[in-house]
Amino acid sequence: MIVVLGNVEHINAIVLGLAGAALLAAIARLAFLLRKQRALNEARQHLAITDELTGLANRRRLLDELEGALTVLSSEGPEAGSLALLLIDLDHFKEINDSFGHHTGDALLRQIGPRIRQVVRHSDLVARLGGDEFAVLLHGADTLKAATVAQRISSLLEEPIDVGTASLRVGASIGVALAPEHALSTDELLRCADIAMYRAKNERGSFDVYEAALDDEAERFALIEDLRRAMADGSLALHYQPEIDLRTGRAVTVEAFLRWPHPTLGLIPPEHLLDLAEESGLIHPLTTWVFDQAISDCARWWREGHHVAVAVNLPATDLLDSALPQRMGALLDGAGLGPEALVLEITEGMVMADLTRSKRVIQTLSDAGIMVSIDDFGTGFSSLSHLNDLAVGEVKLDRTFTSRLQLGEADTRDENLVRSIIDLGHALGLRVVAEGIERLDFVSVLAGLGCDSGQGFAIQAPCRAAEIDFAGLEGPRHATDAAASRFHR
Ligand code: C2E
Ligand code: CA
Ligand code: CA
Repeated sequence: MIVVLGNVEHINAIVLGLAGAALLAAIARLAFLLRKQRALNEARQHLAITDELTGLANRRRLLDELEGALTVLSSEGPEAGSLALLLIDLDHFKEINDSFGHHTGDALLRQIGPRIRQVVRHSDLVARLGGDEFAVLLHGADTLKAATVAQRISSLLEEPIDVGTASLRVGASIGVALAPEHALSTDELLRCADIAMYRAKNERGSFDVYEAALDDEAERFALIEDLRRAMADGSLALHYQPEIDLRTGRAVTVEAFLRWPHPTLGLIPPEHLLDLAEESGLIHPLTTWVFDQAISDCARWWREGHHVAVAVNLPATDLLDSALPQRMGALLDGAGLGPEALVLEITEGMVMADLTRSKRVIQTLSDAGIMVSIDDFGTGFSSLSHLNDLAVGEVKLDRTFTSRLQLGEADTRDENLVRSIIDLGHALGLRVVAEGIERLDFVSVLAGLGCDSGQGFAIQAPCRAAEIDFAGLEGPRHATDAAASRFHR
C-alpha cells in the first residue's frame, strides 16, 4: 500500500512536473504567438495606412487624421485653433516618367517626402495620395503659416532632384485650404484645396490659397467631375443630322453631334462640353468615344442598306495627331466599313494653327480615302490662299451665309459673295455643302446657287440614330416661289 502510495506520489510529482513544464511551454508559445500576431497586425495596420512606394502616409491615413482633427475643431469651437491642408501636384512628373521611365519616376517620387519634411514639423503629416499627388496636414497653422510653408515647399521642389545620373526639375503646384475658415468637413476641405491647387496650376503660380470667390471655378470643376461620370456611365449621346443631295433629296452624309443631357442643368451645349473636356484633359477619351459610337452607328446603317458616310467634327488637338489616319483606318476596318464611310470636319482655324502639320495629316487621310471637309467655311479668310494646297474634298458654307439669305437681309453683294464662294469651291473640285437650311423653299434656292448638298432644321433636325429619315426629301427640287427663283442664274 505504502509502496503503491509512494509510487503514486512519485508518479504524481513527475506528472505534475511534466504538466507544469508543458503548461509553461504552452504559455511561452502562446505569448510568442500573441507577440507575433500583434507584430503582424501592426505591420498590417502600418501597411494599410502607408504608401508602399514612398513610405509616407497614404490617402487613408490622411483622411483618418483629417477627420479626427476636424472633429476636435468642430467640437471645441474657436479656441481649438486651426489647421491647414496643402495639396501638392507635381508639374512635370508625367513628362519625366514618359521620357526617363517608371524606374526614374519612382525614384523621384521617393525623394519628394524627404524634401517636404525639411520644412514641416515632426507632428505634421506628409502623405502621398497616389500618382504624383502629395498632401501635407499642418496642425495649428493659420493662413500666414500655411502660405509660408507652401512657399518653402514650392522652392524646394523647384530645385533639381538627382536621380541616378540625371538631375531633374519637377516643380509643383500647391493648393492651400484652412479649417475652420474654409470648411469643416474632410470632403469640403479637400475640395477647397483642390480648387486652389488647380488655380495655382492654371495660373502658373507656385501655390494658391482657397478663396470663396473661386467657387465659380468650383462649379466648373464640379461640372468636369459630372462629365467624367457621364462618360463612364454612358449618359452622353450622339445625335445625327442628314445632309442631303440638293438635287435628288437623298441623304449622302449624316453628321454626328454630341449631346449631354445633364441631370440638373439640362442639355449642355456641345461647345461648352468640348471646352470642359479640353481643359480637363478629357478630350482624347471623349473623341475616342465619339468615333467609336459614330462608326458603329454608321456600320448599322450600312447593314440596313443605307450607304451613307458619317461626318464627325474633329477637335483641334486631333488634327495635329499624326497617328489619326491610322486610328481612323483601324476603326473603319474593325466595323467592316471602307474609308468612304467617314468624313472628318475641321475648321479653317484648326488648319491655320499649324499649317505644315495639318497639311500632312489631311494628305494622309485623303490618300487613305477618308474625306476631309472644311466646316464653317468663309468665316476666316486665311485659308483661301492655302485651300488649293489642302487635300480636302468638301467645304461647308458657314451657316451665317444661309441665314442672311433666308432672312431676306442679303443684298446683291452678299448674294454675289455666296455665289463666288460656291464657285471657288467648285473650281477647286470640292463638294459644296450649305448648312442651316431652315426654310424648305431654300433647298432649291441653294441648289440654284450651286450648292451640291445641304442640311438644316427644314430638312431634318438632329435626332437619334434610329430616327433618321434616310429617304430625305423625295424627288428633284424645283424653285417653287418667286423668292427662290430670284437666286437662279
Ligand atoms: P457645327 O459643326 O457647325 O454644327 C452645326 C450646328 O448647327 C449644330 O449645333 C446643329 O445642331 C445646328 N443646326 C443644324 N441645323 C440647323 C439649322 O437649320 N439652323 C440652326 N440654327 N442650327 C442648325 P450643335 O449640335 O449645338 O453643335 C454646335 C457645334 O459644336 C458644332 O458646330 C461643332 O463645331 C461642335 N460639335 C458638336 N458635336 C461635336 C462633336 O461630336 N465633336 C466636336 N469636336 N465638335 C462638336
Ligand atoms: Ca460640322
Ligand atoms: Ca458648321
